[in-house]
Amino acid sequence: MSAARLLRIVNPASEQLITELECDDSRSIIEKYNRAMAAQLEWSATSLASRQQMVRKFRQLLVDRRELLARTLSEEMGKPIRQARGELESVLGRIDFFVDHVDRVLRGETALSAAEAPDGRTEERITYDPLGVVSCISAWNYPYFVGLNVILPALLTGNTVLYKPSEFAALSGLSIAELLYQSGVPDEVLIPIIGDGFAGQELLKYPTGGVFFTGSYKTGRAIADICSRRFTRLQLELGGKDPVYVCDDVDIAAAAASIADGAFYNTGQSCCSVERIYVQQSIYDRFLEAFCAEVKSYRMGDPLSEETYIGPVARQGQLGVLERQSSDAAALGGRLLQGGKRGAGPGYFFEATVFANCNHQMELMREESFGPIIGLAPVKDDRAAMSLMADSRYGLTASVYSGDGERAQAVLSRLNYGTVYWNCCDRVSPRLPWSGRNDSGMGVTLGLEGIRSFVRPRAWHLRRP
Ligand code: NDP
Repeated sequence: MSAARLLRIVNPASEQLITELECDDSRSIIEKYNRAMAAQLEWSATSLASRQQMVRKFRQLLVDRRELLARTLSEEMGKPIRQARGELESVLGRIDFFVDHVDRVLRGETALSAAEAPDGRTEERITYDPLGVVSCISAWNYPYFVGLNVILPALLTGNTVLYKPSEFAALSGLSIAELLYQSGVPDEVLIPIIGDGFAGQELLKYPTGGVFFTGSYKTGRAIADICSRRFTRLQLELGGKDPVYVCDDVDIAAAAASIADGAFYNTGQSCCSVERIYVQQSIYDRFLEAFCAEVKSYRMGDPLSEETYIGPVARQGQLGVLERQSSDAAALGGRLLQGGKRGAGPGYFFEATVFANCNHQMELMREESFGPIIGLAPVKDDRAAMSLMADSRYGLTASVYSGDGERAQAVLSRLNYGTVYWNCCDRVSPRLPWSGRNDSGMGVTLGLEGIRSFVRPRAWHLRRP
């Protein structure tokens, strides 16, 4: 018998091994798939009230164990501890939304009553069924947000879930599973699959009612190709190159502080991180000054320190992307205002980096950076800003800072982005649908639409004798 492959969990701040986990292989994945399939009917037959009860208990466990969970998250992917706690706190609002609104989605509707029907006896009704077993292949950057955006509405609506957390957040993924079990969710209803991209590929060999993926465009594209051969529901939450436009009628210091936070929070590793900034010419220099002052105040260091705002990037390989984008921007005329290189010492640190005078020849302004780096450019007016904001293959979020709401909304309404912000950025609400356009993906999580993603309608024609 061959030895199991081991997944090495390495702390990105110290490069020390935290632990090794046994990876799933082809055999264990098919066995898990069969278990999830076998359990689904019984799970969907449990009452909604008892499923809601389990999720409420899970919520309480997240509250009770917050410090330990935050520490694990911080150690395995380098998220600064205060931001790790923030993720665990903010996820509670999402849980409340799912629990409080699932019955609205599952409630059937009468489209036409028998009394209203032309024949006086044929009622038309709609009910909602779960998809069955769903596959959740998840990113590491916010494992509680992106994992639970799928897992909880899927479970609440009666699906069983095969959950592949990222190899860079596998311990947090296992914690999610463990706490759900402690809340009463049977262990064949939510089944984690441990491993790297290979485990994700293996999982996709088996047909499920839905594939819910959060991750890069490249992997999303490969998954879409596989799923195109099946009639399965596919949801892809992919990357972005999210623009911000700063108009000349703003409070410069307040806008700079808000946008810098949107660019560098989670060390720039958010799907909706600000990735490029356009500033109206007349305030450009003053904005640059305020922006750099803000970024200089961010402390980079040990993610477990309360003072740290910038941690290491989670994946060593991303350092090469950040270096390449820096040297490319410098070569194409970008003015480096700060940072631009790796941190000293061990760990996958990259200094908070700001480039001014950027243009769209640069990779920095075109491709997702997913790290602590940002490019800024001056623009003449709203029309010029709009044209640059639209010049992207992505469509996740876009933002305008302006004292004039009508002006901001006029710009935003002409752009093809799933989420738009006025005077804010890098923000997600449980009440609003989260969806990318173009190469940022397809499908919806969050909001009522994000619960509906896990059910399909059944049409009933009920003719009384
Ligand atoms: P990846 O695409 O590298 O990985 C995502 C998941 O897919 C991981 O679990 C990964 O496993 C797995 N995987 C890798 N290769 C395959 C494969 N061939 N088949 C099946 N599964 C595979 O993305 P990251 O985890 O690095 O996430 C970062 C990206 O996610 C960014 O682009 C970010 O913008 C995006 N994102 C989008 C969000 C949105 O809401 N739109 C939210 C959060 C992130 P493993 O990690 O173990 O290799």
